Amino acid sequence: MLVGTLVYYLTLLFWRRRTLVFLDIACVNQVDEYAKSEALVSMGAFLKHSKTLVVLWDATFVKRLWCVFEMAGFLQSRGPDASRGLEVCPVFAGPALLSGTFGLCVMLLIFSSSQAVIVPWEFWGGLALCALTFPCLTCLAYVVLIHCRSIDVVQQQVRCFTIGNASSYCCASNHIDPSTGERMVCDRLIIERCIAAWFGSPEQFEETVRGKLLAHLVYQLANCTFPYWRVVQATSPALWFKLELYNPAFVVLFILETIVYWLLLLPSVALVMFRLIYCARNLCQSTFTQVLLSTGLVAVAALLFGAFFFAETMLLPQLIGDKHTSNWILLATMSMVTIALWRCMPPIHQSDSPQAAGQESP
Ligand SMILES: [Zn+2]
Repeated sequence: MLVGTLVYYLTLLFWRRRTLVFLDIACVNQVDEYAKSEALVSMGAFLKHSKTLVVLWDATFVKRLWCVFEMAGFLQSRGPDASRGLEVCPVFAGPALLSGTFGLCVMLLIFSSSQAVIVPWEFWGGLALCALTFPCLTCLAYVVLIHCRSIDVVQQQVRCFTIGNASSYCCASNHIDPSTGERMVCDRLIIERCIAAWFGSPEQFEETVRGKLLAHLVYQLANCTFPYWRVVQATSPALWFKLELYNPAFVVLFILETIVYWLLLLPSVALVMFRLIYCARNLCQSTFTQVLLSTGLVAVAALLFGAFFFAETMLLPQLIGDKHTSNWILLATMSMVTIALWRCMPPIHQSDSPQAAGQESP
């Protein structure tokens, strides 16, 4: 468990991906105004020759002309296959998953270093595990609830999007660089020239933003924030914990249990919980009631997990009489449930009417 935790965080800190990326703020010259103008005019070529556009999304994204322009330009350059290369990653997802994984690591480390707790590791051990994860999961559920509410706000904002209302740093600074006091070139003028060349007219650009861009943005935020493999990666401490309990005499049983819990049960519960949170996002308006709602939703998750644990450790072995057979049945059942949830459940799309969105901004 300790080795797994150390390897995980050392890899996270020191492993460097070798993928070539174009990070606009770093690759566009921010000092030389001529070079900056040239880069802005050439942005279409950069977008067209990029395999993927990763949008680090927060609530201010759709208010910034530069960001909206880049995303709309990418969608325009891809045509009907636009969704394939687009990845919208809310900035909260990284810290949320990291803190969730860290909480799980700490909790399971405490469990694995205290053998006395693990000895009665059947029913009561499972209940104790649920109780320990409760505060950590409540925080996570609350953050996801706020994220789901923000999807409604985004829809309201994008439906009212106009180039004139979108902000740009240069205009907000009156075209004077605050650090040097020198005059800045207006990005907006260059972007408007690019818009006229790529989209035909400002009206067509705004139509693309309010149509295609909104549809892709909502789809990504509502369905792709926590994909299957991201959930599996975040819950990897469950695998290390199982490895610590590995007994060579029960290899098949060990593999079955690990697959069922780590690859099937945890991702399925995570997806069900995300959908429940999304459905309940507008039930409560104040922070206090939202925290209460998050607690209730985590209680539902704990019930689901507890019911499964009861079926796995007590009900099925008693009914069938053989632990191996009951675990094979669980594997088959959970495989079908997981595939049905992750592959067949209809995705969330943008709401048809503006009234369906939330009543207040977060
Ligand atoms: Zn400007």
